[in-house]
Amino acid sequence: MKALDDALLITPGPDLVYFTGLRPPMTERLTMLILPARVLVVPALEHPGDLPGLEVVAWHDGDDPYALVAELLREPAYAISDSAWAMHLIALQQAAPHVRFTSMTATRPLLRAVKSEAEVALLAAAAAAADATYEQILSVRFRGRTEVRIAAELSDLLQQHGHEQVDFTIVASGPNGADPHHHIGDRVLTEGDMVVLDFGGLKDGYGSDTSRTVHVGQPSEEEQQVFDIVRTAQQAAFEAVRPGVACQEIDRVARGIIEDAGYGQFFIHRTGHGIGLTTHEPPYLVRGEQQPLVPGMCFSIEPGIYLPGRFGVRIEDIVTVTETGGRRLNTTDHGLAIVS
Ligand code: ZN
Ligand code: ZN
Ligand code: ZN
Repeated sequence: MKALDDALLITPGPDLVYFTGLRPPMTERLTMLILPARVLVVPALEHPGDLPGLEVVAWHDGDDPYALVAELLREPAYAISDSAWAMHLIALQQAAPHVRFTSMTATRPLLRAVKSEAEVALLAAAAAAADATYEQILSVRFRGRTEVRIAAELSDLLQQHGHEQVDFTIVASGPNGADPHHHIGDRVLTEGDMVVLDFGGLKDGYGSDTSRTVHVGQPSEEEQQVFDIVRTAQQAAFEAVRPGVACQEIDRVARGIIEDAGYGQFFIHRTGHGIGLTTHEPPYLVRGEQQPLVPGMCFSIEPGIYLPGRFGVRIEDIVTVTETGGRRLNTTDHGLAIVS
């Protein structure tokens, strides 16, 4: 699925990892892979050595790397990495006014979104590591300890289970759970808290991202009800996954259940996002996204309900699309776990 014959301009970041495995820093000095020419333009200081199948062209401080790239552009239009810096694209536009530049995601939406079997296996392994982390965090003490402290344990566990990079460890307790972007703070967890846990990172280069909501002690009837609505929405969205269904349909199914239960205004984000060499990438399961699901796509399904000043609930699994439907890569129990 590597489109080496396509007209692409690849800058450091996940696209360059995808095509070459190289991870040079993204800096003000231009590094750019030009396809289909198979030329890698690099600052001499960052020369990677010989690369099979690629011609490496190094430039020195004082040279004009944009003029150098412009001379190598033979196609009328190129899609450029989403993560390319604006300063590089604008300079390139000036150096090559005859070339049209398009957004990678807008014009090549399937480039990295459809995973190979090997990639799905790596994502499954990352998910299994996140699942093992969740199973272990259930037995730690929550009551009387801060969010920061629990988050540090999540981070340690992810690394023990093979993550080389931890991207986020959200521990959003009690009223903090009503903010989907709450990270962590010094709030001390106490009896009666709903706690949204959301954590992930990279294992062997591929992403994990899972959320579970737990409760310190026994939940109230209302808490359990809200939890069950989110759980039902997550399950229904999962069951709607099959090839050909539009991304926005998965969002619509999850949202419909939460709306029907009267909590529509409290589900304040999209239902999911793709995952691969990064923890958040296309496709997005969001209203207006008409991209049909394709076997090999991998994304989160993570509906939530957020009640301001009170609590939040989110349940998130990574799911892959198969010929016959969805397959969950996260497999830990969805029930409301009671922690001590
Ligand atoms: Zn409670
Ligand atoms: Zn998450
Ligand atoms: Zn997510």
